Amino acid sequence: MPDADVDVAIVGAGFAGLYMLHRLRGMGFRAQVLEAGSGVGGTWYWNRYPGARCDVESIQYSYQFDDDLQQEWEWSERYATQPELLRYAEHVADRFDLRRDIRFDTRVTSATFDDTAHRWVLLTEAGDRVSATWCVMATGCLSSFNTPDFPGRDRFEGATYHTGRWPHEGVDFSGRRVAVIGSGSSAIQSIPIIAEQAEHLAVFQRTANYTIPAHNTPLDPEAVRRVKADYPALRAWGKRMVNGIAFHPNPKPAGEATAEERRDVYERRWAEGGLTFMAAFGDLMLDDEANATAADFVRGKIREIVTDPETAGKLCPTNIIGCKRLCVDTGYYATYNRPNVTLVDISEAPIEAITPAGVKAQGVEHAVDAIVFATGFDAMTGALTRIDIRGASGVRLRDKWRDGPRSYLGLAVAGFPNLFTVTGPGSPSVLTNMLPSIEQHVEWISDCFRYLRDRGIDRIEATVTAEDDWVAHNAEVAGNTLRSTCSSWYVGANVPGKPRVFMPYIGGFPAYVERCDAVAAKGYEGFALGA
Ligand code: FAD
Ligand code: NAP
Repeated sequence: MPDADVDVAIVGAGFAGLYMLHRLRGMGFRAQVLEAGSGVGGTWYWNRYPGARCDVESIQYSYQFDDDLQQEWEWSERYATQPELLRYAEHVADRFDLRRDIRFDTRVTSATFDDTAHRWVLLTEAGDRVSATWCVMATGCLSSFNTPDFPGRDRFEGATYHTGRWPHEGVDFSGRRVAVIGSGSSAIQSIPIIAEQAEHLAVFQRTANYTIPAHNTPLDPEAVRRVKADYPALRAWGKRMVNGIAFHPNPKPAGEATAEERRDVYERRWAEGGLTFMAAFGDLMLDDEANATAADFVRGKIREIVTDPETAGKLCPTNIIGCKRLCVDTGYYATYNRPNVTLVDISEAPIEAITPAGVKAQGVEHAVDAIVFATGFDAMTGALTRIDIRGASGVRLRDKWRDGPRSYLGLAVAGFPNLFTVTGPGSPSVLTNMLPSIEQHVEWISDCFRYLRDRGIDRIEATVTAEDDWVAHNAEVAGNTLRSTCSSWYVGANVPGKPRVFMPYIGGFPAYVERCDAVAAKGYEGFALGA
């Protein structure tokens, strides 16, 4: 590929990179997207494991920037499958003719700021060079997959898979003995389907997780017609909610309800299904006694569903519900009633080794033909720190973030002029419906570029003071909720050696947007602007 000089280099062609390219083009910027994968879609390009689908309803987990697009696209199910989500991303790329400015199979390995020319220089794995005034990292919060370094991992003689890098041709587990390591959302979605195919499935669970039934169903055309008759109203409602999802929260504290009332409310939410279970009462993430009432309810459901009491006991989580990301499933707990499924509890003693023949835990070797690593991601920072990003004085991002990410609004980093991160650490991102969060960042960043261009300014940098204040504010609000109390990927606990810092901004989508808008309205307060 020839070297390129453009206004904006965008890394990543997921939902963030695609919209970024489209919006910048519309403003007359020359932009180039660099994407490691061979196609668009990001998350939905890579995560092709069986059962992969969204857990925010598709009617809301979709772009809203173009009314024709949202009117013409027809989702078939309440929660779209990965193939349907990928088709949607591909449709967007084609509809807006985006592919001609995307270089696929192009992994960015370094990005260096030249402070004399005020330009970023990006190098790719193949040695190509792209230079740009502005650089936008649309690299994803959950794109850098994590395969723990189990002793003997490379000696296994069977097949191994990671949910986040699933083979495009699919995998047939028929007649095979399979191990799944992990019990997060990816495991919980894939286990019921793998169990149906496999001769035997052993699930290695380190931490039991809460999951709420999806009650997935084909979408009712009449209900869709009603939404589409006034789609902006649904979108506006979503934007007023802390998590960017239009739903009906119950503000009442759990302690003010009687035990019967609580039971009724939880039953209704369970029957409704999905993530809004946590909106059953107003204080579930603020008060541990309130939280325990919801956790007890789910544990009761697990004991009702799972017939073997010992297995049910192992499946019952003991931590705060909603502290780790809540999961949404189809038939997960019932899968453990199948005779071909075994739950291996590794909460007390970790996996000892992967042997040539299987997985060894508590002195027992579980012989398998295939291992599925459903072990998650180096979330929020991994995709960024894996690129050698060097700022104004040669400072490296991975050094600056050694004790945890520091960012102003999750958008920009002091010492790294002209670089922006879409849904970066310090923004609501993964605590929200990601599509509106992505759109808000894309629009804020591109509006900023236009503002600078209109004024002949070619350098912008977050100040250390603004960054420090935002980091302190983040830490303060995180300390007010129960979310920071457990070993989740939100705090980096899933990756050995990663500093424990609550990474996403928990102050809620509306307050965050208001703050971003105020910063822009004040001529980019907290940024140093220079010609
Ligand atoms: P991504 O989709 O992750 O795209 C980033 C792209 O950057 C990738 O294609 C990657 O290859 C590329 N990239 C990264 N580093 C480099 C590099 N160095 N060089 C070149 N290219 C690079 N969110 C929700 O709100 N609702 C859901 O239901 C939901 N379900 C999810 C299900 C799964 C299985 C996962 C993993 C995540 C889910 N998420 C969900 C979060 C999801 O990641 C976001 O919703 C959204 O798709 C992110 O889009 P993005 O463009 O920001 O990042
Ligand atoms: P995850 O939630 O981080 O789960 C990883 C699992 O692997 C956890 O059970 C973890 O155990 C286990 N694990 C990690 N290292 C291990 C080790 N060394 N030994 C044993 N077990 C180990 O990852 P994920 O399931 O891929 O999900 C990540 C996020 O992506 C989700 O939280 C969600 O935001 C998104 N996602 C959404 C959906 C959806 O429903 N739409 C589906 C998939 C993913 P511990 O809990 O003990 O660390």
